[in-house]
Amino acid sequence: MSDLKKNDKIILKIEDMGIDGAGIGKADGYTLFVKDALIGDEIEAVLMKLKKNYGYARMIKILVPSPHRIEPKCPVHRQCGGCQFQALEYKEELKFKQNKIRNNLIRIGGFENPLMEPMLGMEEPYFYRNKAQFPVGTDKEGNPVAGFYAGRTHSIIPCTDCCLGQPVNQDVLNRVLEYMKACQIPAYDEKNRTGLIRHILIRSAFATGEIMVCLVINGTCLPKKQSLISSLNEIPNMTSIMLSLNTENTNVILGKETRILYGQGYITDCIGNIKFQISPLSFYQVNPDQTKVLYQKVLEYAALSGTETVWDLYCGIGTISLFLAEKAKKVYGVEIVPQAVFDARQNASLNQIENVEFYEGKAEEVVPELFEKTPVQADVVVVDPPRKGCEERLLQTIIQMNPERIVYVSCDSATLARDLRFVCDRGYEIKKVQGVDQFGRTGHVETVTLLVREP
Ligand code: SAH
Repeated sequence: MSDLKKNDKIILKIEDMGIDGAGIGKADGYTLFVKDALIGDEIEAVLMKLKKNYGYARMIKILVPSPHRIEPKCPVHRQCGGCQFQALEYKEELKFKQNKIRNNLIRIGGFENPLMEPMLGMEEPYFYRNKAQFPVGTDKEGNPVAGFYAGRTHSIIPCTDCCLGQPVNQDVLNRVLEYMKACQIPAYDEKNRTGLIRHILIRSAFATGEIMVCLVINGTCLPKKQSLISSLNEIPNMTSIMLSLNTENTNVILGKETRILYGQGYITDCIGNIKFQISPLSFYQVNPDQTKVLYQKVLEYAALSGTETVWDLYCGIGTISLFLAEKAKKVYGVEIVPQAVFDARQNASLNQIENVEFYEGKAEEVVPELFEKTPVQADVVVVDPPRKGCEERLLQTIIQMNPERIVYVSCDSATLARDLRFVCDRGYEIKKVQGVDQFGRTGHVETVTLLVREP
């Protein structure tokens, strides 16, 4: 490891980027990861943690900036930690994401030269999120503040205008904070478990413009609520104002019980021509514009003619199932969260879609059990698992179901690569791999893969 020591200052040229977006440079052949340093930067850094084969350094100064550096839109991006790429040109971010998928397919999946479609990026990688949750606290002067937790901590950095979210969020937050000040409503204090307001959740429906505000409170009622309701109602399209009751000592944001202060208790959004009713607890994709792009790809890869039986595993509130139902004979969805299955059924009837059926349970249990009873028919199987990917037992059953096509939607290209290897060793072939950027300025990327049964 040469003779580098902790606290040494060194000059580094950043030549690569790690999977979480940290800059990588080499000192005497020893690899160092530097947060917030970009490929192409020359920097001064101080050594922090040194391990046998690699270490971490902290950037002190940029000596020669990377040609891909841009002015970050957000003044608190380094403390907040939500965005990894605020200072990088967007086209370089897309290149990074494409490489991340490719490298995982090669290294983990053992695919030699994976063919990939060019990444589908956003038109504008800002203001794309339809949902934001701001923790509320108290500053040194005793004033209520809303913002973000500093990376990996619970101290709040005041910030009411996150540029990934909707501009209206700022207006909402300011009105809630003004109400708290005027009516002397205290913010929740995590340490002593006193105070009232814990979080402010804001959801916007892009297709209809409707807005929902939900205050998470450490209690069961909101004093002087009328003054808050009148103020929030001055914002156009304010459709629902709600309370979520959470008196538990927990990191989980929303409580189990919600109450309506004003309006109908949900907002309505559309993806394509499918409508969804969204309540504070519903799972819903956070970037609706790119979700449509993603689902279009799923639809294209599924290549439905109207006669197919489709399985949508890990179906959430049935978004993909309903999106595909119009073009299929029958769609079956499987989802573990009971409330999501309830929403999926509601959404099906809201859209008068009758050729869908939803099963509640673990995909790796429900599907094999159904298959054991009667060989279930499947022409196309869509999977959209959480980061840990699919269990082998499920993949094994999918192979036995013998669908012509498998469409794998993944939010983690490492587990995707592992699962693709399993399926490709058992009679399937990768036809297309498409990255879709759902989370601009962050390190996350979504991938859609088409697998076809070998003849
Ligand atoms: N396809 C949906 C949701 C994808 S997110 C959409 O596009 O909106 C992944 C979903 O898998 C979540 O809804 C999660 O609750 C569900 N899930 C997690 N583990 C599961 C399992 N073992 N079996 C079935 N569903 C699971």
